[in-house]
Amino acid sequence: MASQNYITMTYQCGYSEYGCRAILSSTQKAIHETTCQFGSCLCPLIACPCLGTFSGVSSHMNRHHPEIASATGEELVLSATNVHDFPGDHIGWMMIQHCHGKCFMILMAKIPAGDQDQFYVTVQLFGSRGHCKNYTCRLELKGCDGMKYVWVGNPTPIEDGIPSPDNPLECFLFGSEIARFCTVNGTLPVVVSIRDESNDGVVFHVTRFTTFDPSGKEPVSSALQQFYPD
Ligand SMILES: [Zn+2]
Ligand SMILES: [Zn+2]
Repeated sequence: MASQNYITMTYQCGYSEYGCRAILSSTQKAIHETTCQFGSCLCPLIACPCLGTFSGVSSHMNRHHPEIASATGEELVLSATNVHDFPGDHIGWMMIQHCHGKCFMILMAKIPAGDQDQFYVTVQLFGSRGHCKNYTCRLELKGCDGMKYVWVGNPTPIEDGIPSPDNPLECFLFGSEIARFCTVNGTLPVVVSIRDESNDGVVFHVTRFTTFDPSGKEPVSSALQQFYPD
């Protein structure tokens, strides 16, 4: 009786040179590489050639770029100093945030937009695209009368580079009027909170600019939605 033997082609993970030992079929390989913990990226600073694993590059940031503020905690404040005097069209402010065993880069930039400048803040994960959805970032500005401006969304992977300010799912964009309203002694404090959603099973999806009323109780307008997985 004739029998046929099938051989399944297997492949090494594309990050094997960084230590991954996984052996996978071609379909598994594509899926695995989006969350492989040995994934690699370039140092996000222009002109720095450092390439390594996500954790390698994040420790490289601490060692070789100590001028970039770095701190540990789920909730930190990015203090954007001299916010109104800083020239437009630049990444002006940067912070490295360590929490949940991961490293995030918070960037704030000023962009010229007609008569008014605009600002945007974005959060990037030193990690793979597949891991970004595990984290929810909340960025908050507080006005001088207690009004809060809040953005909630997922980080983007560092390997994608800085997201476009036009994409509200990836950037908290606001005009210089709001920036001025929330600036204290020339410094704009942006409160950055990062949650690990894989731990408590709550996933925030829709990301939008949200305005809360000054009493801080009810959102005045909100596209923020919470989904509880079954
Ligand atoms: Zn791998
Ligand atoms: Zn570097």
